[in-house]
Amino acid sequence: MTTQEEINLPFNEMIEPKLLRHRVVSPQLYSEIHKRSLDQGPQFWESVARELDWFKPWEKTLDDSNPPFYKWFVGGEVNASYLTVDRHANGWRRNKVALIWEGEPWSDGPKEVKKLTYLDLYREVNRVAYLLKEEYGLGKGDTMGIYLPMIPELPIFMLAAARLGVAFTVVFSGFSAQAVADRMNDAEAKLLVTADGGWRRGKVVPLKDIVDKALESTKTIRNVLVVRRTGQEVRMEKGRDRYLHEVLSKVPQNAYVEPERVKSEDPLYILYTSGTTGKPKGIVHGVGGYMTLLHATMKWAFDIRDEDVFWCTADIGWVTGHSYIVFGPLMEGATEVLYEGALDYPEPDRWVSIVERHNVSVLYTSPTAIRTFMKYGEQWITKHDVSSVRLMHSVGEPINPEAWRWFFKLVGKERIPFGSTWWMTETGGILITITPGSYMVPMKPGTNGPPILGVAANVYNDEGKPVPEETKGYLVIERPWPGMPLTIHRDPERYVKVYWSKFPGTFYVGDYAVKDKDGYFWILGRADEVLKIAGHRIGTYELESALIQHPAVAEAAVVGVPDPVRGEVAEAFVILRGGTSVRPELKEELVKFVRENYGPIAVFREIHFVNKLPKTRSGKIMRRVVRAVATGSEVGDITSLEDEASVEEIRKALQEFK
Ligand code: ATP
Ligand code: MG
Repeated sequence: MTTQEEINLPFNEMIEPKLLRHRVVSPQLYSEIHKRSLDQGPQFWESVARELDWFKPWEKTLDDSNPPFYKWFVGGEVNASYLTVDRHANGWRRNKVALIWEGEPWSDGPKEVKKLTYLDLYREVNRVAYLLKEEYGLGKGDTMGIYLPMIPELPIFMLAAARLGVAFTVVFSGFSAQAVADRMNDAEAKLLVTADGGWRRGKVVPLKDIVDKALESTKTIRNVLVVRRTGQEVRMEKGRDRYLHEVLSKVPQNAYVEPERVKSEDPLYILYTSGTTGKPKGIVHGVGGYMTLLHATMKWAFDIRDEDVFWCTADIGWVTGHSYIVFGPLMEGATEVLYEGALDYPEPDRWVSIVERHNVSVLYTSPTAIRTFMKYGEQWITKHDVSSVRLMHSVGEPINPEAWRWFFKLVGKERIPFGSTWWMTETGGILITITPGSYMVPMKPGTNGPPILGVAANVYNDEGKPVPEETKGYLVIERPWPGMPLTIHRDPERYVKVYWSKFPGTFYVGDYAVKDKDGYFWILGRADEVLKIAGHRIGTYELESALIQHPAVAEAAVVGVPDPVRGEVAEAFVILRGGTSVRPELKEELVKFVRENYGPIAVFREIHFVNKLPKTRSGKIMRRVVRAVATGSEVGDITSLEDEASVEEIRKALQEFK
């Protein structure tokens, strides 16, 4: 059994932002308001949905006749491209900048910055939609693939497809040919859009070559459109491949394509999950519910306003980019930054210079990025002016209280809201977070905060019963929410099995969590990444967090390995902070440190020092890969792995230990 003493998190530390614009309420008051929102049932969401422009209003708010295939706003007709582009281009925001795009800088500073207004975006989206429709005959019911670097054409193609009711699937431009082929085949895409190449860390990623290889094993792709980005020579297959600029030159400048009236529950896109825990799942999102959740969270979590410059540092290839680069901010008529390349190339402060150069006011980034910045050291931040930033959130993994404090101090100047929004590809948008744009509760370092209004989150034990406060268990969502998946593409059984079978009628998330007495949730990592040391359940993340609190540690991955006495013990792989020398007594010191800070049940077989950790291409630690190497079992599907050398690094560390 787990008890309160074993959880060492700052449950009682409450921090309020110093900016007067946020209405800070007590957690108790928030709980009451939250309870009232749930009492209204699905109808709660109607007033949010009504703020979108529907072509035809819905007849039924929630159709729950065929669970778990819930449908939101049934009978309603809507278009995501219309909501994001037309509304603003035809209104007072038409000359407002929608996208500030920055290409990857070369050694002597940024060369390329492009700004697109809402009117520019509207024109481009219409011209591309015209092309897709007239030249390629795509329409409702079709699927297309997008494999592009972070250039303006990426959101433009997504919005053009949405305009036609064509479901699209974006493949992150760092993926290999196999991953592209798998996704195109699974999605049955007819057309694939790519670029000749993309810039990353000063090198060209040969996207078109990768596509050529992928297309050797795809069945449905008939045409390829190629955006010229790097200008390198590429092979163009006659009858199949064409350059975008060539075909687009024949499309009239003022081409207009009527946005398709799509049904609220029609698919908008298919997106494959990050693959952290196994084979990626093709999550299908609809339009009406999804856009409703984005509208709510852009306001509540990000407090988005017209004067803001919004920057989400994720890649559009992940759900974070879909929701909070493309559909969310543009629907709100925001000005946002889109950047190509890497946050720390050519210098560790590329990202801070972007904040400074474009006066970013709302910043959305990830723990993996923050821990990397920690590794480089604070001097890279303090040499820039980050005073434009007024609100921040992190996403993707739990944020260690230590990393939270570091970033809150250096960038947040201990005065602005800074949260960790919990959600996943499947949820479509943020579900658990502090909401500085509506009712803000005090912050706590590392927490996710309470669920947003209208969302019923809870923590269950193995029997499917809610656990007491400050006890660990499984995170669940007890009621349908707008933005939930329609299904897993071509595999509805897997959808039922993965999410709705462990606790029938309740959405099983697969994360391990604890709820404190103030109703704040603390996501502790994956439910299957839990160690059982002498019968105590410890999230690997909890031990990683304890390690990171040590001033010498920048990043850590902990996995469980079998132990004859205790069942399991921990094995840690640690990246040290810049400038730390490996003293012989450091390992012992770290073990002692963790036992003092976390508890004596933290038993390690060994702590290894490494330079890299296996991560997904979205930057998450792939503990299942570390564990497989450490226990000598099959590593399984590693198409999401960023750098194969990281696996070797783990292997080497283990061999040296033996
Ligand atoms: P796969 O499902 O293929 O294994 P994945 O779960 O990494 O991959 P995503 O949908 O990109 O794919 O990530 C969602 C997961 O990320 C959540 O289940 C959770 O574990 C983690 N996560 C996201 N945001 C947070 C956060 N703010 N705090 C803690 N964990 C988070
Ligand atoms: Mg997942």
